[in-house]
Amino acid sequence: MLTQFQAVGQALFTQGLVFSQGGNLSVKLGEHLVITHRGSTLGFIQEGDLVETGITKNNRSTPLASKELEVHRCIYRNTSALAVVHAHPPYAVALSFTEKEIVPCDAEGQVLLSKVPVLSTEQATRLEDIAEEIAELLNEYRIVLVQGHGTFAVSQLLEEAYYYTSALEQSCRLLYLLKTLRITPG
Ligand SMILES: [Zn+2]
Repeated sequence: MLTQFQAVGQALFTQGLVFSQGGNLSVKLGEHLVITHRGSTLGFIQEGDLVETGITKNNRSTPLASKELEVHRCIYRNTSALAVVHAHPPYAVALSFTEKEIVPCDAEGQVLLSKVPVLSTEQATRLEDIAEEIAELLNEYRIVLVQGHGTFAVSQLLEEAYYYTSALEQSCRLLYLLKTLRITPG
């Protein structure tokens, strides 16, 4: 379990998909989830950086969990996901301001993601306020992009949710470059 978190955290960090203390990871274990500690740095996860708490019930560890805990809980309550990766990939976040959905133009992105919805945050000041909308979209899509914030990806495995995050950022980087060159893909 720890090595899974470490491998995915390090990959996200070295690829610039999270910075400093941003982003968080979790996996579901029955009625519980294991989530990264509040303020932990994903690039350098240690044993003490993992917190186990209930999906519906709080315990002594709950206050130590990532501040995005409620979004992870909501996703597990409303989808069949067993793992969640939340990241702040810069090209994807940049495009979230101008696009309503991301349609990858590269082969890998098309195969893995096909289409990624962008969730507007006009009304919401906190992610918690749109947790249900995030979860609802994740029943249909593997990854959702929250405007001006970042991504939530789900899968049965942490590693797979990371692949979706990485693939989306790669697609967004290409789309960004094509926009800069004023080329319309398709
Ligand atoms: Zn975040």
